[in-house]
Amino acid sequence: MTKYIVEPKSRSDMRAYANLLRRKLGLADILYFPIVELLDSLAEIFPEFSYEIVPDHVLGKDIHADTDIRTGHVRIKESVYERACSGEGRDRMTIAHEIGHYFTLCHCGFRLTRNFGKTEVPCFKDPEWQAKCFAGELMIPYQLTKDMNPARIARVCGVSFDAALYQSKKYKK
Ligand SMILES: [Zn+2]
Repeated sequence: MTKYIVEPKSRSDMRAYANLLRRKLGLADILYFPIVELLDSLAEIFPEFSYEIVPDHVLGKDIHADTDIRTGHVRIKESVYERACSGEGRDRMTIAHEIGHYFTLCHCGFRLTRNFGKTEVPCFKDPEWQAKCFAGELMIPYQLTKDMNPARIARVCGVSFDAALYQSKKYKK
């Protein structure tokens, strides 16, 4: 059960937010997004953002990174950070996902409420879906990749084949 509900956003909203961040950074036309370097840039641009590389045992076994939305503090597992630095697509996407949480909830201030009910939360109101959607749009910019196949997208954007495939399926809708 999703613990939180966030104000509804569509994929095209999230695409617009990802493009906004890319433009703000002067990276609108860059295929291979420098996500690791972005951590330091964000810390310079946004005083409320901070991040930390933590030893693997600090976070749970299945947690690769997390974001404290009250403080804007992102923690990334050391092994994830190192693989992201060497270009591993999945780990690059993990960092983008956490930046998605930070950017939507802390920077843009999407309103978040606790889910007390037993009802299923539709995906567009789920903070996890929003972060995933933002990360995909940030790492795989629609305008630059809409005519590419997944294998090419994975190569030029530095993302996993699965992520490239998922994203390109959205183009056909
Ligand atoms: Zn998440």
